[in-house]
Amino acid sequence: MAQQTLEVTQATTLKEKPNPATLEFGKQFSDHMFMMDYTSDEGWHDPRIVPYQPLTLDPAAMVFHYGQTVFEGLKAYRSNDGDIRLFRPEENFRRLNQSCDRLCIPKVNEEAMLDYLKELVKLDKEWIPTNAGTSLYVRPFIISTEATLDVSPARTYTLMVILSPVGSFYKGGIDPVSIFVEDEYTRAAPGGTGNAKTAGNYSGAYKAQNRAADHQKAQVLWLDGVEKKYIEEVGSMNVFFKIDGEIHTPALNGSILEGITRKSVIELLESEGMPVRERKISIEEVIAANESGSLQEVFGTGTAAVISPVGRLEYKGHDYVINDGAMGETARWLHETLVGIQTGELEDPFGWSVL
Ligand code: PMP
Repeated sequence: MAQQTLEVTQATTLKEKPNPATLEFGKQFSDHMFMMDYTSDEGWHDPRIVPYQPLTLDPAAMVFHYGQTVFEGLKAYRSNDGDIRLFRPEENFRRLNQSCDRLCIPKVNEEAMLDYLKELVKLDKEWIPTNAGTSLYVRPFIISTEATLDVSPARTYTLMVILSPVGSFYKGGIDPVSIFVEDEYTRAAPGGTGNAKTAGNYSGAYKAQNRAADHQKAQVLWLDGVEKKYIEEVGSMNVFFKIDGEIHTPALNGSILEGITRKSVIELLESEGMPVRERKISIEEVIAANESGSLQEVFGTGTAAVISPVGRLEYKGHDYVINDGAMGETARWLHETLVGIQTGELEDPFGWSVL
């Protein structure tokens, strides 16, 4: 796939920027968006930046019926000296192609996508908020557009990238969240689409999310889709446990999403001489460790929240308090270090922040 010329059409009227103090997640969008089309004859073609605008789609467009669609999520930051920084974007385009492969969507040129994204973010750089905890959320996604009710992979697609200035993911800042261990509904099954970022994985989780909310819990702790015994993820985050001074996380198994924050946490801890044990972890083991006092910390990792400590857990009608409901020292250090690298306040020895 050769790189093609990027066509840029600038917006003639610019929108008013939101107040950075009251930003929510994914409610407002910048002045421009990126688009590119796919046809079986031409492959991916016509990369362009255009003013942010609604789409016109045939009601029979396949995405509406069978959900052949994939997406990504990453963040851009602007440092105090005005530098724009994207956090490990090449990992997101690698994962986008992994999702494309699972959903039978033609793959994209990862290098070209990174260049197009850089141009888009540079054009809308004024939309990157700089207040603490804020960033510009980047949402690449691909939809199948062919107008037919055939149940088979589409022959036409559109890829878009939209940008949204966001505040802190959790309204209460990084206060520890409470979680509900879901032992009826599952997020993903072996051989399913759990390690792809595709729409159905998320809408299929709403029912469990609603139940967690009914129990006054902020997030769902997902168990495996066979025995409902082994821990997979928490909400839309990967999950880590500190037990007796050692850090553990569920091993990737095809149904867990391969989080880029997860990977960064593992690399960061290993560089500090703290290897992370990737293995099967049962919910019973975690409850027992909490009861015996050896469970020191539980935290989620993901682009939206970076690190999200877990302070409370409900399983089979019992409430358990973790680490007195407080944020642990490892979660705090990881949060400060990752956010520091992302925003440019700390040195970036790994070369994770790019533009
Ligand atoms: N699990 C799921 C199901 C997710 O949607 C996400 C968010 N992409 C994650 C984990 C965390 O991944 P990342 O660290 O790349 O944001």
